[in-house]
Amino acid sequence: MFSKIFSRGLSTMSKLDRSLLKVTKTAAPKAKLPNSELVFGQSFTDHMLAIEWDASKGWSAPEIKPYGPLTLDPSSCVFHYAFELFEGLKAYRDDQNRVRMFRPDLNMKRMNKSAERICLPTFDSEELIGLIGDLVKLDQDFIPVGKGYSLYIRPTLIGTTAGLGVGIPDKALLFVICSPVGPYYKTGFKAVRLEATDYATRAWPGGVGDKKLGANYAPCIRPQLDAASRGYQQNLWLFGPEGNVTEVGTMNFFVVFKNADGTKELVTAPLDGTILEGVTRDSVLALAREKLNPAEWTISERYCTIKEIADRSDIGELVEAFGSGTAAVVSPIKEIGWNGKQIQVPLLPNEQFGELTKNVNDWIADYQYGRIESDWSRIVN
Ligand SMILES: *Cc1c(COP(=O)(O)O)cnc(C)c1O
Repeated sequence: MFSKIFSRGLSTMSKLDRSLLKVTKTAAPKAKLPNSELVFGQSFTDHMLAIEWDASKGWSAPEIKPYGPLTLDPSSCVFHYAFELFEGLKAYRDDQNRVRMFRPDLNMKRMNKSAERICLPTFDSEELIGLIGDLVKLDQDFIPVGKGYSLYIRPTLIGTTAGLGVGIPDKALLFVICSPVGPYYKTGFKAVRLEATDYATRAWPGGVGDKKLGANYAPCIRPQLDAASRGYQQNLWLFGPEGNVTEVGTMNFFVVFKNADGTKELVTAPLDGTILEGVTRDSVLALAREKLNPAEWTISERYCTIKEIADRSDIGELVEAFGSGTAAVVSPIKEIGWNGKQIQVPLLPNEQFGELTKNVNDWIADYQYGRIESDWSRIVN
């Protein structure tokens, strides 16, 4: 009896299958906004991708349809118990007008890890990359042209099981929406001020801070508003009695120190489960290891305390700091408030960035816009 149910379950469970895609085009195409009016995540393309999942049937046929509202039962588990996860990646137009997605395989891997953690269904990464490519290709006229312009892609997975019992979802919806975006800082870089935060904790060992779950973000807004009331744009999240620096709001954190012998060290927190495994973080580390002279540089994934940053600032060994993430790519940091003290982070004279911050930005852009051909960049059209 059991084996019969079991085998039936296996044989009828459909995998995510791009070849089953159904496309319904919009009858009311939207006007495309001029570059100057693009605001991050405020306008969307004509279409969305939607794929339903059911525990007894598996993944249904993927659908690309006009962008529009969802209809869900108010008792759906996403609304009550936060069965929600998301991803963020970008597609870029290169010099030959081809469209390229930047390292989507890493986003899919991370999305599957997030799904696994909250009992939502996993899927074949390559099938979803292909489907996202189909959506991006259909809406490619929305991708703005120009330095710093791109299409932000937001894959999302929610549990849709109706009913108030807390349990494993037997229904889910995966959808993907796209927003045309401009450079994060309209007039070049703008260095930010961070407030080192230890009275609230973003993530902890054994927690889910390394997964892109919606549940990780809502609790961080109150501390961010508190920091904003004191003139800081973001929190620099500390962890533990030593005050280890973990990351910034939605960015990973990098700091550069100078040693007494003149060598430099690029430091970022290790992947110990308390920081998000940023695709940009991984790209920064890979490019730094490739491009920086090992006789002059050490690249470390290690714990660094806020006290080390403050102490080394006092003796002139703090060189620069930046955040990394898909939205801004790199974001220079000019000041860190901690314990009533302002740690000044150096910038280049008359600039809003440090030397490595600028270089890292340029190195990554060469891959994003396909000026350097590599498997980091996937041509869509
Ligand atoms: C998304 C995110 C990042 C950056 O990840 P990328 O893959 O580089 O965009 C960093 N920290 C948090 C908390 C995030 O949500």
